[in-house]
Amino acid sequence: MRYISTRGNAPALNFEDVLLAGLASDGGLYVPENLPRFTQEEIASWAGLPYHELAFRVMRPFVEGSISDTDFKQILEETYGAFAHSAVAPLRQLNANEWVMELFHGPTLAFKDFALQLLGRLLDHILLKRDERVVIIGATSGDTGSAAIEGCRRCENVDIFILHPHQRVSEVQRRQMTTILGENIHNIAIEGNFDDCQEMVKASFADQSFLKGTRLVAVNSINWARIMAQIGYYFHAALQLGAPARSVAFSVPTGNFGDIFAGYLARNMGLPVSQLVVATNRNDILHRFMSGNQYFKETLHASLSPSMDIMVSSNFERLLFDLHGRNGVALAELMSTFKATGKLSVEEDRWVEARKLFDSLAVSDEDTCATIADVFKRTGEVLDPHTAIGVKAARECRRNLSTPMVVLGTAHPVKFPDAVEKAGIGKALELPAHLSDLFQREERCTVLPNAIEAVQAFVAQHGNRGRPL
Ligand SMILES: *Cc1c(COP(=O)(O)O)cnc(C)c1O
Repeated sequence: MRYISTRGNAPALNFEDVLLAGLASDGGLYVPENLPRFTQEEIASWAGLPYHELAFRVMRPFVEGSISDTDFKQILEETYGAFAHSAVAPLRQLNANEWVMELFHGPTLAFKDFALQLLGRLLDHILLKRDERVVIIGATSGDTGSAAIEGCRRCENVDIFILHPHQRVSEVQRRQMTTILGENIHNIAIEGNFDDCQEMVKASFADQSFLKGTRLVAVNSINWARIMAQIGYYFHAALQLGAPARSVAFSVPTGNFGDIFAGYLARNMGLPVSQLVVATNRNDILHRFMSGNQYFKETLHASLSPSMDIMVSSNFERLLFDLHGRNGVALAELMSTFKATGKLSVEEDRWVEARKLFDSLAVSDEDTCATIADVFKRTGEVLDPHTAIGVKAARECRRNLSTPMVVLGTAHPVKFPDAVEKAGIGKALELPAHLSDLFQREERCTVLPNAIEAVQAFVAQHGNRGRPL
């Protein structure tokens, strides 16, 4: 499989190189040159397969030429065998023809584990083969950091540095990062805010001389392998609900448009997906596009669903590329307009095309809590605030009551106790067994001033399993 840039002016890469690449050199994002397409018979024959075997069949074309079938099978079995629920992504019914797909049975209790657990193992496999070491640097406001660290903790050839704003993440979130003690794991608390952390990461990618030649890898949501890993569970849910004989709809709590884009790809690969609902909080740039063809930046608002607090959606460019007939030149122009003016809209017929599949809703904090309370009252299930937004949007936007609607359950409610409490649920939530001693574990973290020189010096000093680069 070869991968091309959405802006049409960067070299095509194979899977191995796309795994190690961040943005393409022309500023675009990598996408497959040709999407694999499965027949209905083929998809039907996968019914009942264990999760890792289904994932193998769905993802195999994307890694072809870079990873052997035997190795890839084993990697997938290890990745998803470590999840706490033997069904990996179980469905729970809330209502007539309405389900939540629980994607939070991985080690950090959020759906990002599906991608980052796999990414860590893929990196390790390819780096061992190439006998190469890399450094990962990332910034987190809480959630992605722990999933990335958990994903890389066993990687022989990766050192990971995660920056978080000192004393500005919740205790559970901090402990999920700082209690992982491998010699290649480096938690840095910056005396600044999340934007300061992110700026330092960006600047480090722009000038990598402090790394003395070691390659820097991005594990943020634009990494193609993360998108790829999220396609599998759309097939998994749909097959259980009668696909391919029957169509299925999905509602996806959305921030950077990575997760829902994987659903869009599943459909283009042959899965009968009749509707995709973009569910956002009040940071609703995607809802503004879907409802009125207006994509423009606004100020960031803190919400009860912090993992969806974004100003722009980094993966949306991948959908725009398809809407423009995969014309890289047209897309480069569109994105440069967006960069200059902070807004864009597309020609009417392209927008109408998108609306055939996508609907959207922006959900307030108030409605998020009301949905958590309503679902608890009717079913006894406690939803996390992100998932609740998905449920609310599914109910408002649903086109056809006889089509199964699956809401992606993106996080475990124990991660977001504030929202659950605000929803008036008195029940105390317990950490799952594998995290029950989280508050007793030893922590390791370095506090650094809000200065890029200090951070880069620290990386250079510790980037080789705690030793200097
Ligand atoms: C990251 C995240 C999202 C948003 O996913 P995107 O792929 O960025 O759209 C939703 N919910 C939770 C809990 C998340 O961690």
